[in-house]
Amino acid sequence: MPEQTGGRNDLRIDHSRCLPIRYSESSCRRCIEACPHGAISIDEQITVDQERCKGCLLCTVVCPSGALEINHDFAACLAALAKVTKPVLGCCRTTESANATLPCLGGLSDEHLLTLIHRLNTDLTLHLGSCPDCPNNSMVALLQERVSLLDEQKRDQGGCRIITAEAGTNVTLQHEQLDRRSFFSSFRNALFQTAAVVMNSATEPVEQNGSYGDKRLPQRRELLNQTISKLSADLQGQVSKPFSHQITFSPDCAACQGCAAICPTGALTTTDRAQHPAFKQDHCTGCGLCVEFCLDQAISL
Ligand code: SF4
Ligand code: SF4
Repeated sequence: MPEQTGGRNDLRIDHSRCLPIRYSESSCRRCIEACPHGAISIDEQITVDQERCKGCLLCTVVCPSGALEINHDFAACLAALAKVTKPVLGCCRTTESANATLPCLGGLSDEHLLTLIHRLNTDLTLHLGSCPDCPNNSMVALLQERVSLLDEQKRDQGGCRIITAEAGTNVTLQHEQLDRRSFFSSFRNALFQTAAVVMNSATEPVEQNGSYGDKRLPQRRELLNQTISKLSADLQGQVSKPFSHQITFSPDCAACQGCAAICPTGALTTTDRAQHPAFKQDHCTGCGLCVEFCLDQAISL
């Protein structure tokens, strides 16, 4: 049994995205609460204790701003899975028996899972066979819960099924390649080249401190937006609903534009300095930083 469990190099950290670093009064501690190994601390920067971090990637699933992301090429995973008729996605401990791998399957967020569901044309198996002996095994129950919730929600939405194969389940690995025509049709409404640009982070620095003024969506939200944009109008509404947040401004808003400056994703933008910022719903991750930052308490989410 391989001992590898991933680690600090599987994380990409951008301190400038972190909410308490952008605004010291922010109450966000989602990553600290999600980390089962107590590896994360935050003061003037995000510190991940290399000894404690086992690379379960659970922090990347909860971070709403893209401060912590997976340092891995998800587009390559998607492409490898789309080439086979019975795709198996594994982790760094099951590379021999999977068509594609992530460092740890704990990093599969709802956005990743929905992308797999709506882009692959055939049922996908998640290989959890090595999890019982892995220090990251606490992620299994969380992942199974996410998969089963999405499975219930997607009954009327179509898309492929995601099957979790626990220890003892026989995972059959096929290397059978789809023919060229089937390969391309297997990307249901995919915009693959764009996704590759968005998700190909493996060559970027593992740690950076970007500009606080730069706005960008977390990669997993960018991926979801691309997936949603290729669905039918009916499905777009259904799939995006759990991710749709609404910001409202009360008459107390002084139009100071501070919320537009502090928002990490570009969901709030200044159009007229005499009015409250404009709101772009598909860029809002519901992080709540604007609500906490507004001195006039004029924003509700
Ligand atoms: S979840 Fe993200 S934004 Fe929140 S404290 Fe952790 S790194 Fe910062
Ligand atoms: S609009 Fe507010 S809640 Fe939405 S991403 Fe920006 S700061 Fe966060």
